[in-house]
This record gives sequence, C-alpha cells and structure tokens, in this order.
Amino acid sequence: MGKVLIIGAGGVATVAAHKVAQNKDVFTEIKIASRTKSKCDALAQVLNEKYGTNVTTARVDADSVEELVALMSEYKPDIVMNLALPYQDLTIMDACLATGCNYLDTANYEPKDEAHFEYSWQWAYRERFEKAGLCAILGCGFDPGVTSVYTAYAAKHHFDEMHYLDIVDCNAGNHHKAFATNFNPEINIREITQKGLYWENGQYVETEPMEIHQPLNYPNIGPKESYLLHHEEIESLVINYPTIKRARFWMTFGEAYLKHLEVIQNIGMDCIDEVEYQAPKADGTGMITVKIVPLQFLKAVLPNPQELGQNYDGETSIGCRIRGIKNGEEHTYYVYNNCSHQAAFEETGMQGVSYTTGVPAMIGAMMFLKGIWSKPGVHNVEEFDPDPFMEQLNLQGLPWHELHDIDLEL
Ligand code: NDP
Repeated sequence: MGKVLIIGAGGVATVAAHKVAQNKDVFTEIKIASRTKSKCDALAQVLNEKYGTNVTTARVDADSVEELVALMSEYKPDIVMNLALPYQDLTIMDACLATGCNYLDTANYEPKDEAHFEYSWQWAYRERFEKAGLCAILGCGFDPGVTSVYTAYAAKHHFDEMHYLDIVDCNAGNHHKAFATNFNPEINIREITQKGLYWENGQYVETEPMEIHQPLNYPNIGPKESYLLHHEEIESLVINYPTIKRARFWMTFGEAYLKHLEVIQNIGMDCIDEVEYQAPKADGTGMITVKIVPLQFLKAVLPNPQELGQNYDGETSIGCRIRGIKNGEEHTYYVYNNCSHQAAFEETGMQGVSYTTGVPAMIGAMMFLKGIWSKPGVHNVEEFDPDPFMEQLNLQGLPWHELHDIDLEL
C-alpha cells in the first residue's frame, strides 16, 4: 500500500518499526534513517529475523534539510515518520515540502536553545502543506496522540458539549534504577522542569513547576500522587473543542524521582546553556577548552531509556477524564489504556513508554496510507475521524476501556 521512511532509531522508533513490520499489507517498503547508522542496521536485522521484512537503512543528519532532501528524493516515501527529536520537526517538514512527502510526528517543535514548546511554529506550515496537497499529522504518540483521539471520540459519541477535560498519565512501573527517564532524558527533563500551565475560562493559568498536585486513583494500580504539568495537546484541544471550560494535564512522579530532579536542578545539571570545560585532549598531549551543555552531558551518563525494558515491571495507565453535557444532562466519562512494561518488552525489546508512543505513530501512518486520515494541510490528530484509529488501538496492542458516570476525582 505504501512506502514509509522512519527517521530516528531510538526507543519510540524501534517500537514503531516493529509495528510497521507487523503490518505488511499496509507498509510495503520500510527504510529507517538516523544519525547513527549502526543503530538502524541493528534494528533492521532484528526486524528481518523476526518478521522476514526487508528493511533498508541510511545515515542522515535530520538537522540538515539538504541531507534530508537528498534521502527523500532518492527513496520517495509516501509518508515520513519523524521519530527523532522535537528539534528536527521543522527541518523534516521543510524537506517534506521540498520533495512532496507527507509527514507525521509525536512531539511538537522545540528550539534547542530554549526549553519551550508550542504548536505555532508547525501551524505556520499549514498553507504550504495545503497548497502542496500534502498532509502533516502532528502529535501522534500517546500524549499527545491517543489522548487527543480519546477526546475526539468522547466528543463524537458521548457528549454534546465537553466542559472539563483532565488528561491523566500514570507510570506505575519500576525499572529498578535509582533515577532514569522513560524517554529521551534531555527532552523529558526540559519538559517537566517547566512551569505548569492549564486552560480555564478562556485563558491560560500558569503555576510554579509541580505546584499543584493531588492523589488520583488509576485502574488496576490505585492512588498515585499526580502533578499538574503543561502539556502540548491542551493547546490544540481547547481550540478544536471551544466548549471546554477547563483543560489540565496530570502526570505521576515517585518521591525518589522528584528528589533526584531537585538535586539535578540545584546543581545546575538541567542547564541548557553552554558552559566552558577543560577537557584532556584525546591524544593525551594536554588540555583543551570545550563547550558542553550540562543537560546533554547528564543525558550521556544517565541510563539509556532503551535499555530499561528488561527489568521493568508494572504498568502505565493513561487516559482522559471528561465531564460535560449529553441530551441536557451532565455525564462523566473516563477512557484509558493500561500497558504492561513486560509485555511491551517481550514484543519489541522496549519498555511501555516507548511502546505507548510507537504503536499510535504506526497507526497514524496506517490511517494515512489507507486514505482515512489524509486531508492536505497540517493537522492535530483530533481533527480526523477517531473511530478507525480507536479500532486499530484494540488490534495493535493498546486496548482501551471506558467508565461512565463515575466520580472523576477532579
Ligand atoms: P531517543 O533519544 O531514544 O531516540 C531519538 C532518535 O533520534 C535516536 O535514534 C537519535 O539518534 C535520533 N536523532 C537525534 N538527533 C538526530 C539528528 N539530528 N538526525 C538524525 N537522527 C537524530 O528518543 P525516544 O525514542 O525516546 O523519543 C523519540 C520522540 O518521541 C521524541 O521526539 C519524544 O519527544 C517523543 N515522545 C513522544 C511521546 C508521546 O506520547 N507523544 C512520549 C515519548 C516520547 P542517535 O541514536 O544517534 O542518538
């Protein structure tokens, strides 16, 4: 049905590649390209052995539009899955426009030198994608991604008007490390050390980082302290569903994680500005002054999220808790998925957070190639029909459950 180019060979890309290879009727040709070609080759070999899929690989620096254009012009993919980092969103979108390729990602653009994310940079590409007749699907992981599709599904089937939306993200897994992040440590720490932000009565309300928190009960898990964070899907959901009076995002953190994070911040290791450092020369002939970014150095010494899977037990639970009106009466609705880290590892070699992101990325690309989600322009996932995507979630390893008219605790 279509040719796919996966950019990146990290945790999320690995899961997406497994799922792409499992759906041979849709994905007829697969290429994986990333900064380190040896990682693409190792992944291609696993896919070949496991599914008998012939996957080609390439090296590409996705910060370079020129390199991307050369790769895409030669391979001519129907869709490019950007599973590298948020820093590469715009260069990959530029290359897609230059070569006539469609685009999908899981995280919105973030400049390297500023820990700040918002959709405006990518929404600015709308007209160019529309004019080129190309489709860009933004934020197709779990959150953003499935949470946005859950909201669209709730709006379509369960509410005339949604008033209160709380997205709740719990990781009740244990990787048995003193401190580790579940996806790219640099991106993760940048995200959670930001100020909190939520939408209420037509405007954003800012909080200090982790200022607002409360215990929430998660299905099959129990109560977990949950912290209000700024998260990107809120930005598009309150625009696409203007009846929403309040929209918030909550994530659980354990005490040990927060204590480590506090120390990291106190000693300045979360800093994204360059600092000068005296390092020994590789040939042993003296010292050299180099510039390093402390957070990038920290990433180099922290556990690699891709290697957490083996001893990871427990599960994640992510969902949407919504209150609104149907046929003149108030109702509540909770839709969620629980994902086992061990089951994810057994299937793909990666832990649950990579799994819950990579599977929806594959489903989004599948929706595009099947012609179900394919309108030209730049779109957040809630702008498409949620039903076929929800159907695939049940078939592709992320089954969802619904609870009606319960106490949402929020
Ligand atoms: P990883 O760090 O594991 O993988 C990133 C990959 O991108 C690596 O293979 C890396 O190459 C490659 N890469 C980085 N820079 C470049 C570049 N300039 N050119 C080419 N390749 C590059 O990250 P994850 O897999 O954990 O996360 C991937 C994405 O998923 C991130 O954008 C993250 O924000 C997003 N995400 C989204 C979630 C959601 O629910 N929506 C949840 C979790 C993550 P190398 O191997 O050489 O370092």
